Amino acid sequence: VVRVEGLRKSFDGNVVLRDIELSVMPGQVVTIIGASGSGKSTLLRCLNLLETPDAGHVWFHGADLAADHVNVNKLREKIGMVFQGFNLFNNMNVLDNCTLAPVTLKKMSKDEAEQTAMRHLEAVGLADFAHADVARLSGGQKQRVAIARALCMQPDLMLFDEPTSALDPEISGEVLSVMRDLAAGGMTMVVVTHEMAFARNVSDELVFMDKGVIAEASSPDEMFTAPKLPRTREFLSRYL
Ligand code: ATP
Ligand code: MG
Repeated sequence: VVRVEGLRKSFDGNVVLRDIELSVMPGQVVTIIGASGSGKSTLLRCLNLLETPDAGHVWFHGADLAADHVNVNKLREKIGMVFQGFNLFNNMNVLDNCTLAPVTLKKMSKDEAEQTAMRHLEAVGLADFAHADVARLSGGQKQRVAIARALCMQPDLMLFDEPTSALDPEISGEVLSVMRDLAAGGMTMVVVTHEMAFARNVSDELVFMDKGVIAEASSPDEMFTAPKLPRTREFLSRYL
């Protein structure tokens, strides 16, 4: 689904990503871990062109996103993104949050958009909240709405940037369980997280970033039981 080659990104002469090589196959869950400032969010944002790479290629379904003819809006319809901070429209109810983009961008009929939305709200356990104001939901409920809303666009790829970091640990579980279901349903996902149980149990591939490079990438079992680098071991030991 995605292939990254020789990706490089600087901010004001400060190199944040260098020589990034990454492949995400259909149905795969790739989890990115690493210290604060290692470039995880920047890498994720390069995948849907929220950041423009300085060099290298990002291929999405065989199209090079660095080429000028790429329609960024069309691209983002195919890539769902869920952030730490929900980013919902607080002045709308749950259902309207979910139908807005399909109706305005995809020109889906209101009826069809609502049916699709109800299906996804059902899947995240929030069908009963369809007509509730977003502002009145808990953090975990908001994040589940954010996931349902992204799914309403029928994305080929879902990006998650620390979706549970703003949540209490007991609330994180309900969001992680939705993500686990999504993975089990075959969604292709790239997830930045500090949730090591999720990283270990749900991901197909685990990527450890350190100072702007992919220091180590392997299966989660391999990384947790036999990390190749001392810095990987040192990072993981903080979570034991
Ligand atoms: P965290 O775990 O704290 O979210 P991260 O691994 O996601 O960290 P990034 O947000 O990708 O790290 O940031 C990597 C580096 O790039 C940091 O030094 C950050 O200050 C810098 N950076 C990120 N975005 C910008 C920007 N828009 N302008 C300037 N510097 C930036
Ligand atoms: Mg980040």
